[in-house]
This record gives sequence, structure tokens and C-alpha cells, in this order.
Amino acid sequence: MDETAFARLIWDMKYRLKRPDGTPVDNSVEDSWFRIAEALSAVEVGGKRVRQTWSRKFAAALADYRFLPAGRIWAGAGTQRSVTLFNCFVMGQLPDDLNGLFEHLREAALTMQQGGGIGYDFSTIRPRGAPVSGVGADASGPVSFMDVWDSMCATIMSAGTRRGAMMATLRCDHPDIEEFIHAKQQKGRLTNFNMSVTVTDAFMAAVEEDRPWDLVFEGHSYRSLRARDLWDQIMRATYDYAEPGVIFIDRINARNNLSYCETIAATNPCGEQPLPPYGACLLGSINLAALVRDPFTAKARLDEAALEKLVPIVVRMLDNVIDVSRFPLREQEREAKAKRRIGLGVTGLADAFIQCRARYGSPESIDLMKRWFTRIRDQAYLASADIAAEKGSFPLFDQEAFLAGENIRNLPDKVRKVIAKKGIRNALVTSIAPTGTISLVAGNVSSGIEPVFAFCHHRRVLLPNGEAEEHEVVNHAYALFREKFGEETALPDYFVDAQSLAPEDHLKIQAVAQDYIDSSISKTINLPEETSFTAFKDIYSEAYRLGCKGCTTYRPNPVTGAVLSTKPEP
Ligand code: ADP
Repeated sequence: MDETAFARLIWDMKYRLKRPDGTPVDNSVEDSWFRIAEALSAVEVGGKRVRQTWSRKFAAALADYRFLPAGRIWAGAGTQRSVTLFNCFVMGQLPDDLNGLFEHLREAALTMQQGGGIGYDFSTIRPRGAPVSGVGADASGPVSFMDVWDSMCATIMSAGTRRGAMMATLRCDHPDIEEFIHAKQQKGRLTNFNMSVTVTDAFMAAVEEDRPWDLVFEGHSYRSLRARDLWDQIMRATYDYAEPGVIFIDRINARNNLSYCETIAATNPCGEQPLPPYGACLLGSINLAALVRDPFTAKARLDEAALEKLVPIVVRMLDNVIDVSRFPLREQEREAKAKRRIGLGVTGLADAFIQCRARYGSPESIDLMKRWFTRIRDQAYLASADIAAEKGSFPLFDQEAFLAGENIRNLPDKVRKVIAKKGIRNALVTSIAPTGTISLVAGNVSSGIEPVFAFCHHRRVLLPNGEAEEHEVVNHAYALFREKFGEETALPDYFVDAQSLAPEDHLKIQAVAQDYIDSSISKTINLPEETSFTAFKDIYSEAYRLGCKGCTTYRPNPVTGAVLSTKPEP
């Protein structure tokens, strides 16, 4: 199966609009683009002519896979289905009583039913063994409640072809943190959860200075252990089992554009959206690979003028999604409309590097990335300010507090001035999504800012009838190169895949991206199995030092296995 046939299969399975009996409504991918463009222009005011103009601009942005709205938007826009167009949710703060907890379980089930990944912070639940007044019993602790959420997710998702995606966080000072760290080591347990420890700056300092660390709940200290022992436990579990992940929560709050009006304790499942209680966000990615001209030649370059023209249109599209989408819960709608978060990102970065003959992680690639990301960030903020002048700033916009935020202070003066004058429509603007499915639909471009996973690999696809089918998948840049130069030409050294890169290359790219992105980044650092435990721990310390908001690694080993099978090039 060739590259385009595979893309078409995924589009047909996931995003093509069909009638309940299975007959297609979208006859082609273009039809899907028109459907999305039409739906997202419906909220423009000024009459039919204005709406048509926007619809045409939106469709042009989608054409040739230049802008890829997240999967929920592809699947749900303009369909009348009872689904949300938001990919990401964090649920409300969990109350520490049974009645409230099960009320929240109900809310989570309703949210999950409409699609979208969910994150929760379980740190507000009292630890195992703590007294429960009135019933003369001891509390069962946050991890036992996670089992309940896990079963709910399995039940809700059993109807479709998607696996549920949930994230659970627990603070590094919660008394049950050790149980949390090891919970997934029991085979088959909590399989619908990604887990992350929310690590504070105080904890990182205690590790650095080798101090004791208190485990506390509601001001009461339960016990103390060596910070380094706890850190080693987290690291050892991650080294052996690829979980839990680590989130630098104080940094997330300190750098949040909305730090003046919200506190964040959790993220969505893949980590790119730290969100407050009932927070929701929608995602969309610019496909950089589609913007490269004269690939593989001395003149190869990304069309920056085209990029700068594309950004304002897609910011408007995403902003419109907020008004078009359904929301599973009223609280989520209120949250989204008060802050109007959007998550504009990129995909195909590694392919764009290859097409521009730059090796992922090299100084040339970093220079290119800085140029491209500066343009995306500045144009996105300017566009959001322009929309504010036309349609109003997000309701919780506080000019003085917003301009004092760390991300905003780092914007060029000209951009800050425009925000000071016009306000801003979207409190947060940028984010790097995993783009797991949409990148396949766009001809298997590299995902997000990840390196190419493999130039050819095999992928198991779960069909709607429940059967799995294996497909060979060929990377976009690789296919383009072969098409131009034939099968015999040796691959130049800028063709690097995830397995052959050094961890520092991954980390460098993540850290540079984070400098330009106001939310967070979905990124997995692939490591060779033989990476030593000490070297592994150093990666996390380095991620913290470089200003990343979290760190996720993957080291294939007998326990974790390999997610996708690679095979030598044909
Ligand atoms: P897509 O390619 O479909 O747009 P991404 O791979 O970029 O999706 O994932 C974006 C976000 O969507 C994730 O961070 C997560 O919150 C949510 N998500 C991903 N996979 C699932 C899933 N199987 N079920 C529910 N939500 C998901």
C-alpha cells in the first residue's frame, strides 16, 4: 500500500463523514475540508457574503494539508453529531468526599462520551489509611479511586475503535506518591491512564541538596523520606516501565499567561495542554513539510511568506471553533469562553528539516526552527490581537496583568504594543500536539516536533470491525526523496530517525520549541535500551535546567516492548 492509499484509509475510517448506514457524505478529502470550512465560518457576522469569504479562506488554508485541525474537528465539524470539537479537557478539582467524587465520575463519563482526552489531578483525595469521620473506616486513597475511573473509561470507550486517553497526576508531596509511582507495574492495571508526577521547584531543590522531603496532606505531615530516594523511585519506574512522566508544575504556573486568574494542577493526556479545573482546549497544527519549496536542493527553503499569511487565518479558524463546538458540561463551556484558549502548533517539523537538508538537532536545524517559530508565535499573537479589536478580548483579559506575564514580556516590542492597544482574543495561543492521527492523514509526515520515527515501518491499524490489519507506512520526506532520486540513491546524512539520534538532540529541540510556545509540548525522547540509569536521570535534570515544562522518555526494553515495529529499509 502506498503512502497516499494509507492516508486515505485513515481519513476514511476516522474523519470521512458518513450516514448512519455507512454510505459516504464526504466523497473526497476536499469535501471534508469544505465541510470544516463551512462549519467554522458560520459564526462570522456580516451576512452571507462575509461568511462565504471566510469559508473560502479557511478551505484554502486546509488545502494540500497545510493546516491540520485536530482530529475532533475533522470528525465533528458540520456533522450535527453530539460530539465536541475540543481534544483536551481537565476535569474539575476532585472533592475529598464520596458523594462529590462520584458526581465527578459522572461528569468524566459524559465528557469522555463526546470524545476528547481527559486529565485529572488526584492530589486532593486524602491518603490511604486516613480516617473517614462518621463511618469509622479508613480512606482507600487516590490510587484506588483511579481504578474506578479506569473502569469507567474502558466501559465508555468499548463502543468505538479509539482507546480512551486519560491522564492522572499526583503531587510529589502527596503521602500516596510511592503507591502512585508503582501502580501501573501491576500488569493490566490502569491501562487507560497515563500517569505523571507533578514535581515542584522545592522538590527539585531538595533533590539537588540531598534534603529530607515531607509527605503532607492538608497541612498534616504523614512521613518524611529522602528527596533523592523518591526521585530515584520515580526515575527507576520510568526507566523500567516508561511511566510515570514528570511535570514541572511550578514552572507551568509561573509561565502561564493566566497566572493572575487560575492555578493549574494537571494536564491533558499527552501533556501539551496544562489546564485549570474544567479547562478545555482545541488544537490545530501547521504542516511545515507542506510549506517547503525546492526540497533537497541548494535552494530548499520554507516559504516564510506563505507561513505568515497562513497563521492569521488558522488562528481565526480555531477561535471560531470555541463558538461552534458543543461542550459536554456547562462548566467547560464557561471556562473555554472566559479564556478562549487555543493551541496552534506545528507538525512535520522533522520532515521540513530533511527537505531543507538540515539534520534534526544540528545548529542549522535550530536556526531554522527559531526563524519559523518566531514567525508563528508573533503572527499568532498579532492575529489574536486583531480579532480582539474586531470581536473583543477574552472576557478575563486584564491588560496590566497579562502584559506582565513571562511569555508576553518575552514578545518583541511591536507585538506587545499591538496587544496593549487592541487587547487579545485568546489567553493562550500555542501548543504542540502529538498529531498522532492527523499526521498520517497528511501523508505520514513526522508528528509534531518529533523526529521521523522510522522511514519505513509497520503499523497495526484497528479496523471498525474490531480486526487489526498491518500496514507498511512510508515517511513523507523519504517518499518524496525516492520519487525524485530513485531507489538507488544513498540517503544523505540529514535523514536521521528517532532511534539514531542522541537524547540531547531531542532535548534541544524540545527546549527551543518551549521558548516560543505558551502552553506545552507533546514530546517523547526515544532512548536506546542500553542507556544507563545515571545517563537517564541526567536527561530529566537537563530538561528541568533547560526550561522544559515536563519530560517524557521511552526506552524499549523487555517490559515496555516496542510501540511500533521498524524494519530495515527495503
Ligand atoms: P489527532 O491526531 O487525532 O488530532 P493528537 O494525537 O494530536 O490527536 O492528540 C491530541 C490530544 O487528543 C491528546 O493530547 C489527547 O488529549 C487527545 N487524545 C488523543 N488520543 C485520544 C484517544 N484515544 N481518546 C481520547 N482522546 C485522545
